[in-house]
Amino acid sequence: MITPSRTEIPPGVLAIATELRSAGGQAWVVGGAIRDLLLGRPINDWDLATDLVPEVVASLFRRTVEIGIRFGTVRVLYRGADCEVTTFRRDGLYTDARRPDDVSFTGSLDEDLVRRDFTVNALAWDPVDGRLEDPADGRADLDARLIRAVGEPVARFTEDGLRLLRAVRFAAQLDFHIEPATYRALLICAPRIERISPERVREELDRLLQAPRPSAALAVLHETGLLRRVLPELAACYGVTQNKHHAFDVFHHTLAAVDAAPPERRLVRLAALFHDTGKPRTRGEKHGVTTFYAHQSAGRRLVDSAFRRLRYPNEDRERVGHLVQQHMFHYRPEWTDAAVRRFLRDVGEEHLDDLFALRAADSAGNGTRRGATPELDELRRRIAFEVERRSALTVRDLAIDGHDLMRELLIMPGPELGRILRALLEEVLDDPERNEREALLGRAREIHAGGPDADVDADSSGPGSEELPHPEGE
Ligand code: ATP
Ligand code: MG
Repeated sequence: MITPSRTEIPPGVLAIATELRSAGGQAWVVGGAIRDLLLGRPINDWDLATDLVPEVVASLFRRTVEIGIRFGTVRVLYRGADCEVTTFRRDGLYTDARRPDDVSFTGSLDEDLVRRDFTVNALAWDPVDGRLEDPADGRADLDARLIRAVGEPVARFTEDGLRLLRAVRFAAQLDFHIEPATYRALLICAPRIERISPERVREELDRLLQAPRPSAALAVLHETGLLRRVLPELAACYGVTQNKHHAFDVFHHTLAAVDAAPPERRLVRLAALFHDTGKPRTRGEKHGVTTFYAHQSAGRRLVDSAFRRLRYPNEDRERVGHLVQQHMFHYRPEWTDAAVRRFLRDVGEEHLDDLFALRAADSAGNGTRRGATPELDELRRRIAFEVERRSALTVRDLAIDGHDLMRELLIMPGPELGRILRALLEEVLDDPERNEREALLGRAREIHAGGPDADVDADSSGPGSEELPHPEGE
């Protein structure tokens, strides 16, 4: 393998390295950047390692951020570059399998490199004089496309259990295999993952889900006993067989759906991961057919608890939960315009793109049919039409409001107002022509006079209500 050339490094990063050298220090490109350079992959971020102590590094540049001075890291902004400069470290003891108890600085690059997790992450390149340092023989593993722990794998995973997930994540991200002794150590050390903070686990999980094909990683997580500790909801899907519409069990279908979701759409991938997790607990039989009634609601509850456990932001939890809840719609050309409007109302315009992407992934992951369905394009067109003509979808879109009703009917604020407005909305959803002030006031008088039972309050009739129940739906 050839060493990278200086033209591959951003000029600002090279300038930072040159400054460090002028101050009498060393400057090495380390970690993911040198690994990805050698692989010809796009570089995420440039990290430099130096023997200069952080205070000195900070004194050399005008704009710095001392993000982790205890750990030796100074962020340097210089000539257009934004780069982390970390003093060579040797890690202290790992008594709780989470974080080193203390870090101490060292003047030795090799010591800094061999504390790193995997051989392919333990390379260093001096961009000024072009030297490559490779004490763990990472280049050979890059060539062989292998993830191998630096040193004794069981000891390394015992030191820091997050490395278990990182091994699997890097294998998926780089399309590498896990070297056999490292793989055996995953099996042995899997329980260690339970000591890792949910935030760190979530971060790795998110990175794993950005891999081109996360299925490989998810399968390894399952085989090694990590999945049931990190995502028990998904592990429970393993071996849960389905009816004749599905070629795969729920677990393998889920993996195929995750792969089929676009890698850059984080929430769609998460929704694909969870969309059928309600199936194991709703599985039943009816007339010899396997059913999963209301599995989408069960799935939503599982999203709720799993996302809280993993400390996902509330917005992620709500959006993904909503997508899982809504994923079972069954569009047919016979849907009336009112059904299309109710669907739009239930899903929400801002979630439609994600929901359609989830549906495409779900179908592609089915194993029996393929690709986009023409009916869905038709649904998209019909929705666009309703959006275009600004059809009323909520009581706020009605041509009258609560104040109008109070004046017209001489009633006080209270539940009756809401009841009438919701009844009016149902009528307007059926026929948008009725969203006209005088007509609505007239209907409001009738509904009010008819008493609480006179109207068809509160639709529970979604678009699907015109259809026979689907064996997997509500
Ligand atoms: P990416 O391109 O995904 O950012 P990366 O290799 O840069 O990959 P980071 O998590 O950013 O991964 O870590 C930077 C470097 O720090 C790694 O390459 C590795 O050398 C080291 N490192 C990070 N986390 C650990 C860990 N838990 N144990 C040992 N070394 C680690
Ligand atoms: Mg990185």
